[in-house]
Amino acid sequence: MEQADAQYAQARLAQLKGEYKVDVLADWGDDGGAWKPGIWTRAELDRLHSAIVLIANVMGEDAKFVRNLGGVTVQKADIGTHGGEAIVHQVSFSTKGSFSAWTVVHEFAHAWDANYGWKLSRLLEKYTGGYTSPILSYLKQLAGLSDSGFLTPEKKPGRYGRRPGCNKAGYFYGDRPSGSNWSFNRIEDFAESVAMYVGWERGNDLSQHARDRVVRYQLKNGDKDAFNVIDNWTDYAQSFYPENGDYAKTKRWQFVDDLVNGRIVAD
Ligand SMILES: [Zn+2]
Repeated sequence: MEQADAQYAQARLAQLKGEYKVDVLADWGDDGGAWKPGIWTRAELDRLHSAIVLIANVMGEDAKFVRNLGGVTVQKADIGTHGGEAIVHQVSFSTKGSFSAWTVVHEFAHAWDANYGWKLSRLLEKYTGGYTSPILSYLKQLAGLSDSGFLTPEKKPGRYGRRPGCNKAGYFYGDRPSGSNWSFNRIEDFAESVAMYVGWERGNDLSQHARDRVVRYQLKNGDKDAFNVIDNWTDYAQSFYPENGDYAKTKRWQFVDDLVNGRIVAD
């Protein structure tokens, strides 16, 4: 943060706190007469704020955002190779680089789920017809029916472990998520489903990313998608490509829609 932006940043922090009960831990400021810039930038504060507004908008009002999240502290921290991390009432972004609007929504979705004892992701799993079974996953891999190596993904097209149950958690997702990999589980599914819902066909900061997640299944095997991943997209279309390419037709989209509109209630 530049010293010239200090006042602007202060106003943003006050706004985030006042409207959304989001506390950003400032790493910049006056340090014994010298300016300490920290890692946060003005553009990041704006990106954080805009993404929070998008979440609050799908929830309907700021008060619902505050109730659903119950207050969140946001910090930059050394969190290894991840871009972001979340636990109840706390979101961390990596000090190693910046973050995208997508990452903000993804991590805040985790904090929302955490505020309900991770019940929201369990509800999503059930709603979409999925289940988690490490035993069945093990057997599937043992029988050579998985699109991965044995108990590990392989770094080559068609072997990353994207099919139901072919992941570390033994998560057999139901219906059609926008993607899956070795780290996929119901918690990641929930966070990605919220981000997809916030972005899908709304012309906002997440919309291009959401669209890129879906159209890649129309690519040919061996093509590179918008995220620079080469995979057998045609083969995976049956597991991921939604009806007529319309993500709003998926059970995941419907689940998040029901959740934000109060038709699904977690106690
Ligand atoms: Zn996550």
